[in-house]
Amino acid sequence: MAIDKPEIIKLSCPVCKGQHDYAVKISKSTVFYQMTADMDTSTQFVKVRRVFTCPNEDKEFQATLKIPQHFGETINGVDVQK
Ligand SMILES: [Zn+2]
Repeated sequence: MAIDKPEIIKLSCPVCKGQHDYAVKISKSTVFYQMTADMDTSTQFVKVRRVFTCPNEDKEFQATLKIPQHFGETINGVDVQK
């Protein structure tokens, strides 16, 4: 089962030095594991690089997002909403 969850993230803009909100849709699926004693159940962070547009200057910049991937989840895709 896929869960599509739009999230609002704040980015520090390198173009105008301001902060902008962007809606990012994160596609996740749930993974079922058989639990073992030595399993790492901590939250991992998946780094993805995406292009964003500064609304003030109308210029594009790249930023790296750190998406939390909780135990039992797989990040399938990260889409920046235009
Ligand atoms: Zn900006």
